[in-house]
Amino acid sequence: MDEETRLIRKGATNHTLAKTVNPPIQRGSTVLLPNAASLYDDDQLTYGITGLATPHALQQALADLEGAEDVTLYPSGLAAITGALLAVLKAGDEVLVVDSAYKPTRRFCDRLLARFGVSTTYYDPALDADALMALATPRTRLIVLEAPGSLTFEMQDIPAIAQAATARGIMTLIDNTWAAGFYFKPLAHGVTLSVQALTKYVGGHSDCFMGSVATSDKAVAALLGEAMWDIGWSVSPDDAYTMLRGLRTLATRLPRHQENGLAVARWLQARPEVSRVLHPALPDDPGHAIWKRDFTGACGLFGVVLKPCAQSAAKAFLDRLELFGLGFSWGGYESLALHCDPQLKFRTIPVNLEGPLLRFHVGLESVEDLKADLERGFAALNA
Ligand SMILES: *Cc1c(COP(=O)(O)O)cnc(C)c1O
Repeated sequence: MDEETRLIRKGATNHTLAKTVNPPIQRGSTVLLPNAASLYDDDQLTYGITGLATPHALQQALADLEGAEDVTLYPSGLAAITGALLAVLKAGDEVLVVDSAYKPTRRFCDRLLARFGVSTTYYDPALDADALMALATPRTRLIVLEAPGSLTFEMQDIPAIAQAATARGIMTLIDNTWAAGFYFKPLAHGVTLSVQALTKYVGGHSDCFMGSVATSDKAVAALLGEAMWDIGWSVSPDDAYTMLRGLRTLATRLPRHQENGLAVARWLQARPEVSRVLHPALPDDPGHAIWKRDFTGACGLFGVVLKPCAQSAAKAFLDRLELFGLGFSWGGYESLALHCDPQLKFRTIPVNLEGPLLRFHVGLESVEDLKADLERGFAALNA
């Protein structure tokens, strides 16, 4: 062979790989098939877009975490939510979405789903299963749940809602990012689709986007698979590797987030500037009984309603923080804070809080250092 050809072809042979602790990062778009008949064999993996060794390893591990038959991966948590909705809904359908849902979920429903003839009704997270079913019509195909809710942390009676919905032939989808698939198992409670932004706790290091949808319903899994080909999502093997690495320490990191989070939450509860802490693992939280019944733990994310004060005082508090970063997202090893009021005005059911709403993500730092940082914030708030 000419050198030109040798440069192109040598060294490409697939040797059997040495056995390492982690799966290989297998990069590839083209998959070489053994014979002509295989090219059009739907039972074979024929193209890298559906993911090679690394995403498959992650899917297997997540299926175990979620207790699911099937896990589909998406390039972000938001894409997992929108991807699942696109896969199971059609023009003329109606979807019931909890008013405390992650805000971009609502944007997708209001803009894109509406454009394609799917209508959305937002419901109060406080509704019980019967009251929620009273909102369902013959066109209702799916109920979107989130517990605890984004920013306001309301709990929902997931098992009761899932059971009532199933009895009426309505599917349920939960955004289970807060519990990270670890502290709550939606499929075991009858939910059809469990969605996670892996970007948060599974990744755990604030450096990678991905989302997953888990289901044990074969028909729904087939729809999710079809939609991957209809739309063309794909996740990179490097990102799948990063997620898998995060997953290995999920069960080690989460209890520390829980412990630190509760320590900071209790400390905040005792502060004179604080009206209420929104955290379902605190015994006086309205969602505590449900949380205790259905969840096995809590992550490091919760809300704080300040006593009535100017928004500028809340911003002075945030601006004075040194350890808590100011930013969206959460689930990494580091502590974060933000003010939430600008997002609350998009709710359908008005949220009337007595003071500004802050959200904290408590990371793995020392609690004493975090408290000292918050002290500085309160000094600025009071100034
Ligand atoms: C961050 C988040 C998402 C979206 O995840 P991305 O990977 O950032 O798209 C979805 N749901 C909840 C509750 C989130 O906090």
